[in-house]
Amino acid sequence: APLADQDFAPILDWIAAEVRPWVGRGKVADYIPRLAEVPADRFGMAVATLDGRLLQVGDAEEAFSIQSISKVFTLTMALEALGNELWNRVGREPSGSPYNSLVQLEREHGIPRNPLINAGAHVVADVILSSDDDARGRLLSFVRARSDDMAVEMDPEVARSERVAGYRNTALANFIRSFGNLDNPVEAVLDFYYHQCAIRMNCVDLARSFLYLANRGRCQHSGEVVISPERAKRINAIMLTCGTYDAAGEFAFRVGLPAKSGVGGGIVAVVPNVLAVAVWSPGLDDKGNSLAGAQALDLFTTRTGLSVF
Ligand code: GLU
Repeated sequence: APLADQDFAPILDWIAAEVRPWVGRGKVADYIPRLAEVPADRFGMAVATLDGRLLQVGDAEEAFSIQSISKVFTLTMALEALGNELWNRVGREPSGSPYNSLVQLEREHGIPRNPLINAGAHVVADVILSSDDDARGRLLSFVRARSDDMAVEMDPEVARSERVAGYRNTALANFIRSFGNLDNPVEAVLDFYYHQCAIRMNCVDLARSFLYLANRGRCQHSGEVVISPERAKRINAIMLTCGTYDAAGEFAFRVGLPAKSGVGGGIVAVVPNVLAVAVWSPGLDDKGNSLAGAQALDLFTTRTGLSVF
């Protein structure tokens, strides 16, 4: 039978048992004070297939802070708003540096290496702010439509908590602005950025919401064309090369799927033409990726044979 037709339910149960020793290990992000309060012992995983199945295990319905996973949604919106001109303002090469690094920006004249590091996400946020008076509302409707969950919200306390501790992001945004690569006031860009990071979703929402990237740009449940097949392909490519911080090579080596992680402990991965899969476990490795989450995805692609390699 085709790989896509496998029964994923027992596979998820098996993975949840296998990753137990990793759950609770690693380090819960604490540089955003509010995130430090999240219990470390959680693990959830959900698979949403293009043929409409939804499978889940563990804490898959517990909402968490999606943080950098939001950068995929905003990249999608900014590409729709500005088209390929976006690539004059942000690159698409892996950075090989930490997600919040400043050094390459100086060498590259304020053009961030890619849209999935913080600097790139600031430029993307700027594009969205310029294209809509209610950028935050627009993003929320986008995410609610993609996940088919009208209850998705931004956590104002997480956004506030990050702003208070946001020295590095403030520096980055000011630096980019000094090169003329932000049109909106730095405060507005950062306010939008902290709110996009503060979106709360669960694994089921996330798996469902990434299906448009598995489906050549078309939303699986509404049928809506979110983005062209060409752009869906390109966003997947950027996730593969840049989506898991400066461990994207290691992640491709282990998992072999386009994916985006966040410091809240979530990771979403796309199997083109088949499914999207989301995992969550708050303990992070030293690069900022969920330890149990990466392990779960490694097991998933090996066991199912579903990777891009
Ligand atoms: N809001 C976080 C920051 O800018 C996002 C970090 C992440 O998930 O990579 O530091």
